[in-house]
Amino acid sequence: MKLSASIDNAMPELVAIRRDFHAHPELGLAETRTSAFVARHLEALGFEVTTGLAKTGVVGTLSCGTGSRSIGIRADMDALPIAEETGLDYASKTPGLHACGHDGHTAMLLGAARALAERKNFNGTIHLIFQPAEENAGGAKIMVDEGLFERFPCDAVFALHNEPNLPFGQFALRDGPIMAAVDEARITVHGRGGHGAEPQETADPIVCGASIVMALQTVVARNIHPMDPSVVTVGAFHAGSASNIIPERAEIVVGIRSFDPAVRDELERRIRMIAKSQAESFGMRATVDYERSYDATVNHKAETDFLRETAIRFAGADHVVDLQRPFMGSEDFAYMLKERPGSYFFLGSRVTGEEKSLHHPGYNFNDDLLPIGVAFWTELAEAYLAR
Ligand SMILES: [Zn+2]
Ligand SMILES: [Zn+2]
Repeated sequence: MKLSASIDNAMPELVAIRRDFHAHPELGLAETRTSAFVARHLEALGFEVTTGLAKTGVVGTLSCGTGSRSIGIRADMDALPIAEETGLDYASKTPGLHACGHDGHTAMLLGAARALAERKNFNGTIHLIFQPAEENAGGAKIMVDEGLFERFPCDAVFALHNEPNLPFGQFALRDGPIMAAVDEARITVHGRGGHGAEPQETADPIVCGASIVMALQTVVARNIHPMDPSVVTVGAFHAGSASNIIPERAEIVVGIRSFDPAVRDELERRIRMIAKSQAESFGMRATVDYERSYDATVNHKAETDFLRETAIRFAGADHVVDLQRPFMGSEDFAYMLKERPGSYFFLGSRVTGEEKSLHHPGYNFNDDLLPIGVAFWTELAEAYLAR
C-alpha cells in the first residue's frame, strides 16, 4: 500500500487515540493506562512487545528480512501536573495535562508502527521505544540503566519534539548540542524569627534571601565566559506569612542550565559560595541542596546528516533548518544519545502564532502534525533499513 493512502486511512483512529491520551493524562512512572494501551496496540499490529522497563516503559520490536541492522525510535508518554485551561470537549478527566504534547508523540509512533507493519518495507529490526517520565524522573535513563540497549540493540536512535514556536511542518535539527543540561539548587536561609516591629531581635532571612537572589544574577554575567551559554533562574522564593512577623527561614529554588561540563561545575561552585558567604555576611547560615539533573542532549554527526537528508527528501529543503543555537530546555533523550549514536529534532506546529507554548495550561497538541510525524518516522526507519 502507498504510504500516504495507508496513513490517511488510519488518521481518524489515530486522532481519536491522541485525544483519548489527552483526556487521560498520567504523570511520570504512573503511565499505566497509556502504557497498557500502547502494548495492546503494538501486539495487535504483530510487534513483539516488552513491558515493564522503567515501570511503565514499552518496547515494540518488528523484524523484516534477514538484515542485521537496527534502529530505535523513541516517544515519551508522560503528562505534567498542570490544571488544564483549554476548554476542549476532550479535556483531561483526571488531574494533570498533556501540556508538552507527549500524547501526540506517542500517537505518532503508534501510527508509524501501523504503517511499518502493514508495508514491511525494510530489512532489519525496528525497536519502538515508549518511555515514561521524560518530565521529571528521567525515564530514559532508567530504561538505559535497566539494559534497554543490551536487550534491544539499536545501531542508531532518534526522537522528536513538537514545537509551537516553530512554523508548522518545519524540521529543526542540529549537529552537536541541542538541549542543555539542567540542575536545581534549593537554598535555605536559616534566620531567627520574631516580631516584625523588633527586627533588632531577629535575623531576617527575607532580607538575606533577597540579597542572595540579587547576587546570583552575577554568576552568569561575571563568572562565565560570554560565549558559553548558561542560565541561572530563581524560580521560587518562599518566606514569611504576614507583615508583622519575621520568619524563621527562607527558601530559594534555582534552575541552572549549561552545556560545558566545566561551566556546569563552575556554576555550582559559585552558587554554593554566594549562598554561604552572603548568609554569613548577614550573620546567618544557608544550606544548599544541589541536585544534578539531566545532562546536555548532544546529537551525533553522521545520524544528524542522515536525518537532514531524509527530512529534505521528505519535506523539501525549505522546510528543514539547522538551528544556529541549541535550546536552553532539557531532555532525557540525552541518556539514550550517550549510549547510542542518534539525533533529536523539533517539528514545528505554529500555524496562527496564537498557539500556547509547551507547559502552558492552555496548550494542546496540534493533531495536524500526526500524519507528518507518522509518515516521517516510517520513511526514516525504512530509509535507515533500506533493502
Ligand atoms: Zn515538557
Ligand atoms: Zn516534552
